Amino acid sequence: MSRKKKNNEEAVEERVCKKCGAPLRSTNRYNYCDNCRRERAKARRETMELCLGVGVMVLSIVPGVKHFVNKK
Ligand SMILES: [Zn+2]
Repeated sequence: MSRKKKNNEEAVEERVCKKCGAPLRSTNRYNYCDNCRRERAKARRETMELCLGVGVMVLSIVPGVKHFVNKK
């Protein structure tokens, strides 16, 4: 943050997307532009689906493994 301050220009808070640096509308409450927020939401959903899938897989495998282990 060694950027020199210009007179008036930087007095106004310039809001840009944290990810791609695109200028944000003043109505935007977020630190990311619509595009990046959509991408993030999509990535999060995909991650959650992946976790869910793995969880379901584990849950479906564990009883089988237990059954196999207990079998004598
Ligand atoms: Zn962006």
